[in-house]
Formats: sequence, C-alpha cells, structure tokens
Amino acid sequence: MNPLVLIAEDEAPLAEMLRYNLEKEGFRTRIAPDGREALIALEETPPDLVLLDWMLPEVSGLDVCRTMRRNAEMRATPVILVTAKGEESDRVRGLDSGADDYVTKPFSPRELMARVRAVLRRAKGPQGEPIVAGDLAMDLETHRVRRGGQEIALAPTEFRLLKVLMERPGRVYAREQLLDLVWGRDIYVEARTVDVHIRRLRVALNSHGGKDLIRTVRSAGYALEPEGA
Ligand code: CA
Repeated sequence: MNPLVLIAEDEAPLAEMLRYNLEKEGFRTRIAPDGREALIALEETPPDLVLLDWMLPEVSGLDVCRTMRRNAEMRATPVILVTAKGEESDRVRGLDSGADDYVTKPFSPRELMARVRAVLRRAKGPQGEPIVAGDLAMDLETHRVRRGGQEIALAPTEFRLLKVLMERPGRVYAREQLLDLVWGRDIYVEARTVDVHIRRLRVALNSHGGKDLIRTVRSAGYALEPEGA
C-alpha cells in the first residue's frame, strides 16, 4: 500500500494544496484541521509521515510533536514541521521538539515533496549496532550519543552529520559531499548551512569539555578526529 501522510493543517486551502500534490505523487492522505484531531488520527490510522503545522488550534504542532516523541507507538513516525516562523531560534526549537525536518511558509510544493521523499528514505535507513569511534559512541536505535560515557544532546541534523563523520573517522569531507550525504541530492541547501551545523556539532561535542574533535581542513572540508581512535 502507498505511504499514508497525515496533513495537520488548519488553513483549508493549504491543506488541500498539500493533499493535491501528495496524491499526485501517489501518497495516500488524511487531513486533521487541529492538533487534537491530529492526535486522534495518529491513533486511528498511524501514518508513515506527518506534515505538521506549528500553529494549530487546540493543541499546537510543537506539542503534538512532543507527545508523539513520548509515545512508544508514534515515536518513530517522521515529522516535518510546517511553519510561518522563520527565526533561527524557532527552527532550533522545532528540531529540538523532535521534528525530522522543517519547512518555512511559503514553500514550493516541489521543495516540500523532495523533503517528504528524503525524510521517508532516511526513516527506512538501517538500524543496528552502535557506531563507535574513539571516545564517541552512537546508538542508532535510541538516537543517543555519548562522549567518554557522557550523553551529548544533538538535534536530528547534527545527529546525521555526526553519523556520516563517525563512519569514516579521519576522512576529510568537502561541504558538497556532506550536503549530499546528510541532506540528500534532491534538496537545495547552501554550502554555508554545513558550516552552521558543523559549528553546532562542535559545541555539542564539547559540552562536557575535552578537545575539539572536528578538524577544519582549509579549502577542503571537515574531518572527525575522535580521541583515542
Ligand atoms: Ca496554522
């Protein structure tokens, strides 16, 4: 059966536009006009992905996302937050609430569809043995990262970035390679975005002290150099 996308959106014309574009691409859809209806829909017909408006009546999109992440049955369902807010702090708050991606209105249907496909592809990715590199350990099932036994809190993008770097410690990745591996080829993201997420990853990895683990290689890119590797 084709993947089911739950569209949690109170603006009816936007919900219909999303439904039209998703069904054109072969997805099944269900629309929930507020946060409470979204939670009911999540229980009744568990979707493969949720397009979640931040500003929803009854229960906000952010609270729906948090509720999902606390619920064993809904925890693994990918969420793309759809919002009119574009401030960096909101973006961080949105991703920290457990959303897998974030789209700011107005967006093109094409961009959104590319993100839907990318998030679904990543959600199906292999889960298994923890990845270990030096004093870093990453558990793919629980999404937990530890450095020297101490937990490191990472937003989803930093998590994926670190995963790529941990799979080949010491290897230098160009920004463009990281864009392809972390964001996917079919999404346009500025190369500078990589620098922003590398900076955040650096700060997070150093949150309990220790040496900087990410080496910047001038005009070439970045490499992870874990301690004790
Ligand atoms: Ca809204």
